[in-house]
Amino acid sequence: MIFKKKKLERKVLITKDVVESILSYCQMKHPNEGILILKGKSKQGEIKVDGLVIPPFSYTGPTFAGFPHSFLPFDMSYVGIVHSHPSGSADPSVEDLHNFFGLVSLIVKSPYKDDCIFAWDSGGNSVPLSIVEES
Ligand SMILES: [Zn+2]
Repeated sequence: MIFKKKKLERKVLITKDVVESILSYCQMKHPNEGILILKGKSKQGEIKVDGLVIPPFSYTGPTFAGFPHSFLPFDMSYVGIVHSHPSGSADPSVEDLHNFFGLVSLIVKSPYKDDCIFAWDSGGNSVPLSIVEES
């Protein structure tokens, strides 16, 4: 994993319309977890998210959400996943870190507002996240 190198300042930029789609999807799935694949690109540690994909064969419940990674087509534009925590905690669970996919994992906690989204790396470290206007 090239992103293990410490010197890269990681950050996540996410467009406002993607945030709104994530929030409404998670609200719809509540009280179960919702899970989506993040599309975008990364350059020198800066991960820009500008699209979403509903994962095939996803399974969700009140405390878990996932999908079989083997069903995913190989696509370089998949930068990570976002899932919701209906419990209201934004911390990644051990299982979340175990099922880490891509470069970044976003967690949306209930009640799914703009400031309920948090970004994490594969080590469970928080990554700064900013919402940007342009798409
Ligand atoms: Zn989780």
